[in-house]
Amino acid sequence: MSVAIVHRETCRLCDSGKVELVVKLHPVPLAEKYTSSADEARQAPKFPIDLYMCNDCSHVQILDVINSQNLWEDYTYHSGQTQGIVNHFKEVAEKVISQYAPTAGGLVIDVGSNDGTLLRFFKNAGYKVHGVDPAKDIARKATESGIETTASVLTPQVAHDIRSQCGAASVVTAFNVYAHADNLSDMTIAIRSMLAQDGIFVFEVQYLLDIVEKVLIGTIFHEHMSHHSIKPLIQFLDRHDLELIDVERVSIQKGSIIGVAQPKGGPRKKAAAVDELLQLEKQHNLHQIAVMKDFDARIEGNREVARQLMAEWKKLGYTVAGYGAARSGPTLMAQFEFNDIIEYIFDDHPQKVNRFSPGACAPVVPTADLSRRKPDVVIILAWIHARAIIEKSQDYLNAGGKFVVCTPDVRVIDKTNPL
Ligand SMILES: [Zn+2]
Repeated sequence: MSVAIVHRETCRLCDSGKVELVVKLHPVPLAEKYTSSADEARQAPKFPIDLYMCNDCSHVQILDVINSQNLWEDYTYHSGQTQGIVNHFKEVAEKVISQYAPTAGGLVIDVGSNDGTLLRFFKNAGYKVHGVDPAKDIARKATESGIETTASVLTPQVAHDIRSQCGAASVVTAFNVYAHADNLSDMTIAIRSMLAQDGIFVFEVQYLLDIVEKVLIGTIFHEHMSHHSIKPLIQFLDRHDLELIDVERVSIQKGSIIGVAQPKGGPRKKAAAVDELLQLEKQHNLHQIAVMKDFDARIEGNREVARQLMAEWKKLGYTVAGYGAARSGPTLMAQFEFNDIIEYIFDDHPQKVNRFSPGACAPVVPTADLSRRKPDVVIILAWIHARAIIEKSQDYLNAGGKFVVCTPDVRVIDKTNPL
């Protein structure tokens, strides 16, 4: 697979050239590419993921863009495999239907529809549904299972074709995809063109305020090109003839927002939550460079703690393992310089076991091996699941084992120092 990278010079939301580097990070390999060849893993190319802030609209973003075809076509993640996500999508569908009362039996289009998990809830409630997703295999399987899915990135042309075929949409959803597109303008033009005048656009993205406050460094990888806050987003949507009418903070991925927009002049009233969240962003100075510089300093402080711990472990001759071969793994290992010290990684995912992590080249072994291998230290790389991992590993802790969590601060957890 050849990978191309392009550094863009302008803000993804407002096209301004006044973009400023605010968080310098270590380059990381593509996060999902666990390979069966140790050599390939060791030589995995690394790409910059520095964060930039736009001095005009304040949007925070990655400007180094990986060729999107390579990034998405072979995607192996299935929403339906994760019960937490299935439950979340069920709640979202129920809430959209009860709160915004889209036309009964109307069309719902999901952008980045994956295996059709979200659309299935709308379908079961009597709506017509159509998915769009660039991962060819997953799109084909979704279609075969009754959720008709166009296997493509959403472009204005694809949107035009879908509208011609299916009519205007009462609801367009974009869950965990609206932060992933480099050409967000094209995606938004496409979404707007598919919406009926009384339709709504519902999206979920990770929220910048949570990322900064909780130092969610594990969420900064190539797929996440935008780190949204609502002030720049409102201006951006406005330019695309959309207005944000509601927003809700949710705990998914330790801090996300679900936004609801309608075509300008649409029938729904703006909820108070929009101005309240704008006010909160202002209170936190979220759109000032200084806040991002503080975030950068806090990451460097964490790195220093990690370096001191590693020096101590080396002196003591400790065996160090990682836990979780998720997409955030290579990011955390690179940012905290754990690549040379982690000997193996615990994970049960069938597409990861017996493969090697990109960059660090650590083999992935089943989690059941924890009690047999008894490493001195286990660094939790699947940071979202830290609490669950520790809770189910009490025997290891009771036998003197140590976990290290990396968010919000680098900390050692053991029998006497619980999470
Ligand atoms: Zn901008």
